[in-house]
Amino acid sequence: MRVRGSCLCGAVRFEINGQTNDIGMCHCSLCRKVFGVASNANLIAGRDRLRWLSGEDKITRFELPSGWGPWRCSVCGSPLPKLRPDGGAYWVPVGTLDSDPGVRIAGHIFVGSKALWDEIAGGAPQLLEGFGSEQVN
Ligand SMILES: [Zn+2]
Ligand SMILES: [Zn+2]
Repeated sequence: MRVRGSCLCGAVRFEINGQTNDIGMCHCSLCRKVFGVASNANLIAGRDRLRWLSGEDKITRFELPSGWGPWRCSVCGSPLPKLRPDGGAYWVPVGTLDSDPGVRIAGHIFVGSKALWDEIAGGAPQLLEGFGSEQVN
């Protein structure tokens, strides 16, 4: 499996080779703030599976003291894959991909902190926190 992704203006492009994990729809307050959405579709790709094709020098890296935070295109502001604090893998905002990654939503995560106006659709498991935590649906 090979899938490419890019930001809105096209300055930053990347490619993922090989299998990723399934998609987690994250409803946490951090994703809500950073992406401006009710929930954030993301998947995890091993560090050695993701390659920047262009614009790596255009990436603005913001991180909280915990290491969490968005990487964005400094030209258009689109979110981009972000290296996890452990350095072993990237969180990839699935909306940045330009074709079907071949994986689907495996669960809604951090449902315990979802917004009151957030309505969850579909039959995927709803988990109080991360994968492996208590299921609430
Ligand atoms: Zn851009
Ligand atoms: Zn989140």
